[in-house]
Amino acid sequence: MNDMKDIATVSRTKEILKTHGFTFKKSLGQNFLIDANVIHKVLDRADVNGDTAVIEVGPGIGSLTEQIAKRAGKVVAYEIDQRLIPVLNDTLSPYNNIKVINEDILKADVSGMIEEELAAFEEVVVIANLPYYITTPILMNFLMQKLPIDRYYVMMQKEVGERISAEPSTKAYGSLSIAIDYYTEAKTVQNVPKAVFMPAPNVDSIIVEMKTRKELKVSVEDEEKFFKLTRGAFVQRRKTILNNYLSLFEDGKKHKLEINELLDDAEIDSRRRGESLSIEDFEAIYRKLENYPNLKFV
Ligand code: SAM
Repeated sequence: MNDMKDIATVSRTKEILKTHGFTFKKSLGQNFLIDANVIHKVLDRADVNGDTAVIEVGPGIGSLTEQIAKRAGKVVAYEIDQRLIPVLNDTLSPYNNIKVINEDILKADVSGMIEEELAAFEEVVVIANLPYYITTPILMNFLMQKLPIDRYYVMMQKEVGERISAEPSTKAYGSLSIAIDYYTEAKTVQNVPKAVFMPAPNVDSIIVEMKTRKELKVSVEDEEKFFKLTRGAFVQRRKTILNNYLSLFEDGKKHKLEINELLDDAEIDSRRRGESLSIEDFEAIYRKLENYPNLKFV
């Protein structure tokens, strides 16, 4: 088996697809990596070694999984498509440190799995070429559960990667940037050309690194309330924060004065737009909201 070509090559991928009569399901975001160079770059950056346990989302036919298994102590890979399970049993048979779980990652008990399977490892890292149609739900689901994951290396649609890692006062900055910034230090690492996938996707891709913060960036007791305030500021990007907040609270227009005062107390000019506000600015707004029991979210 050792003289076999990497799965992440055009010829081996074609051969695997043919042997198993596999056809791509676009609805599951199936674009498989056919270039091992990209994979090596990600794994170098992720600094994976024998003490690292890796969680992969969507192994496909195992292109990335195989390379991770060569470096990491253990890989647990969640694949929703049942048709890929026999394929993976075949392609990954030379490796004894891989566990494939046939589940939807959005429904899986990842926390329980980490306790059961990965407790002995020094660190847990997520590495994935994500199904693009659910990138944000997957990441937010991992982060909101505060799973014991040290860092993430995830390939995604370029535009989403730019939003995730955006700084205030840029076009890509929004409530997603703030939510990610709350839990992690995120940055884009590398662009990925369409040609390294089979089939080639319609959109450009990018790799994002997210390092979980040991301490959250701001301290808020009610995260749901905090995120409602951040999202509410971006509902209509061109509007001022005051105007956006008029629709965020019940009878907002009647409470205009109170909302204005709230922003004033937080030392935020009510004419500013959401895109200019940092996560710390939103923390200040959140703190002052407690003094206005009349203001209820719609
Ligand atoms: N890792 C492989 C690679 O790089 O060649 C495949 C990546 S492909 C972009 C995304 C994979 O995620 C597909 O195999 C797809 O079937 C799987 N997938 C899609 N939705 C999923 C879900 N909800 N849970 C787990 N896997 C999912």
